[in-house]
Amino acid sequence: MALLSFIFFLIFVILLLFFVSKMEGFGRSELSFVNQLKNFEKGYLAIQKEKQRVLASIDNLQEGFLILDANNTIEYANSQFGKILGLVCKKVMNKNISELKDSPNLSPIISLLAQDVKYSFKKEIQINENLILEVFINRLVISKKCVGTSVVVHDITKEKIMGSTKRDFVSLTAHQLNVPLSTTKLSLEMLLDGSLGKITDEQRDIIEKTQKRNNMLIHLVNDLLDIAKIEDKGNSYHCEEVDFEALVKEVVDSDKIEMKNKKIVFEFAKPENKLPKIILDRNKMFLALKNMFDNAIKYTPEKGTISVAFEIRNKELEFKIQDSGIGVPNNEKEKIFDKFFRSSNAIKTNPSGSGLGLFIAKNIIEAHNGEMGFESVENKGSTFFFTIPIKEIKS
Ligand code: ADP
Repeated sequence: MALLSFIFFLIFVILLLFFVSKMEGFGRSELSFVNQLKNFEKGYLAIQKEKQRVLASIDNLQEGFLILDANNTIEYANSQFGKILGLVCKKVMNKNISELKDSPNLSPIISLLAQDVKYSFKKEIQINENLILEVFINRLVISKKCVGTSVVVHDITKEKIMGSTKRDFVSLTAHQLNVPLSTTKLSLEMLLDGSLGKITDEQRDIIEKTQKRNNMLIHLVNDLLDIAKIEDKGNSYHCEEVDFEALVKEVVDSDKIEMKNKKIVFEFAKPENKLPKIILDRNKMFLALKNMFDNAIKYTPEKGTISVAFEIRNKELEFKIQDSGIGVPNNEKEKIFDKFFRSSNAIKTNPSGSGLGLFIAKNIIEAHNGEMGFESVENKGSTFFFTIPIKEIKS
């Protein structure tokens, strides 16, 4: 309606200009008025042209694009939006989202839009078996007032399927390798403990070296299996009430011999009050803590110190493990959580390692909606820490 009135107004202005220009005895001010009107018309046409250009660009985007007004009425949907969601765009235009909630493909997006979230956010949603989308919701705010919402829809089905095929392949290969490596481990142990007869010193030396390499491979295969599990976030997390202090103790106990061998001074700073039970995936959290703890031992020289502390503060579980180890060089810090990354000083002091432990730990913490970080000074030591919001706690 507004557009129609504007067109009538424009026609009226053009006719006015025509008649006025035909009139005789025109003064200077009238002429300037006519010029102003002509400029106005030019400006309006230029804006219209620019609008067409922008709309044509949006229409050719690979992503689906939707604009809603402040009341959640759809003002614009590009053709890709229709293609991705199997809809006819014209049919949804000028409709309020409340009228479209029965549309099976649109309803998951409508549920996101209905959330009373003032800021922009991104969410991955599965519409059906063959359609997985990444949806970006951007609230359009002018002078602290929400004047509308834009929605960008990205079809990630292919990437997701490829990712899961890759994971399946890695997991299958790792499983296939696991059995022969474990059998080799047993055979080597039997050779070394003399169960299969006496061996010479030279033979022992070769067998021990083979055992070391075999153990490295077992470690790598286990890390790859863990990665396959943690990357499958949707299916593999099983949360339960966990006694966190007991869990930390279990991790510490599992590394006691290693710490004794390296004569490490260990300090366990227990919280002042006993922690309530926390809802966590017990096995995954064990794995995250174990990776952090193993690293502290691995990268701390003999007679070094390691301390562990945790506490609940502001409805968050805070955990940290501090060591007096080799530390991380400043210029390599930003890559420390990358898959397969190992710092140059770590490779020198400890050639065995997959560079997967921290990646796994960080993923596990983030799957619990937490954050993980570290501070480190080369040759002085490191502190790795994480926080996890505590939703449900029971004493
Ligand atoms: P890995 O220990 O098998 O190499 P991780 O993913 O556990 O793999 O760790 C990645 C890298 O982070 C290590 O190679 C090392 O460079 C660094 N790192 C991890 N923990 C520590 C630590 N406590 N002190 C010093 N460097 C560490």
